Amino acid sequence: MLATVSAETRIKVKQGGIVRMTVKPEGAVSSVSGRFKNKTIPYFETEKGLYVALVGIDMDQKPGTIPFVTTWRRGGKTFTQKNIVTVEAAEFGLQKLTLPKKKVDLDPPTLKRVKQEKGLMKAAFAESVQERFWKGAFIAPVAGKPQGTFGRRRLINGQPRRSHTGEDISAPTGTPVLAPNAGRVVLVGDFFFNGRSVVIDHGLGLISMYFHLSAVDVEEGAQVQTGEQIGRVGKTGRVTGPHLHWGMRLNSARVDPYDFVDVQLD
Ligand SMILES: [Zn+2]
Repeated sequence: MLATVSAETRIKVKQGGIVRMTVKPEGAVSSVSGRFKNKTIPYFETEKGLYVALVGIDMDQKPGTIPFVTTWRRGGKTFTQKNIVTVEAAEFGLQKLTLPKKKVDLDPPTLKRVKQEKGLMKAAFAESVQERFWKGAFIAPVAGKPQGTFGRRRLINGQPRRSHTGEDISAPTGTPVLAPNAGRVVLVGDFFFNGRSVVIDHGLGLISMYFHLSAVDVEEGAQVQTGEQIGRVGKTGRVTGPHLHWGMRLNSARVDPYDFVDVQLD
């Protein structure tokens, strides 16, 4: 769910949703920035004098109220605007999966591999630059059917496991996967769980990821444009069939990627 805020108001948003904050201070201002959950949230100027910030609400964020404070400076003075974000519970449902025992109960070498790969992913997620690469509305990376799996709690072979952090899109192996917006490729790899993967930094704390690819068509460090082919759908990693796993992180919060599609965000 996307929520838009402009005045000094209260705002409701569901777990895993995003909030678009705007502020239009009077006069020539400098250093406009937001503060949310002890994190600095960057604002960017879209048209003269209008500043926008996107805030992600993690899918596991406990429901309740969280202040969002915007600060700017004008003529040596500091101004603030306080919004109250009310996070409501989302209905994520439960997914029961049955997988081969050797894919679930990992042996020590596999555990070691998984730990290393987790570190690589974490490092890629931390790489977002203070420059906005993305512009305008996002497109879906694959014109397939979203399965509604974002945020799902999971039981794998009867054991509770980590919730599902992205959306799975059904599409046949080989279907082109497109960059949903402009960005820089910060990670390409072949991972135990995620299979062949691409991670894109769209700037200002927005990161997207594409898992289980049959092929990757970009290299680390490449700048990609909206609609550019980055890979092809596959079933690599721990999966039961071909699909694209598409995930988005905004200020480190795991958010619903479809909240970005066909919406004017800048
Ligand atoms: Zn998935």
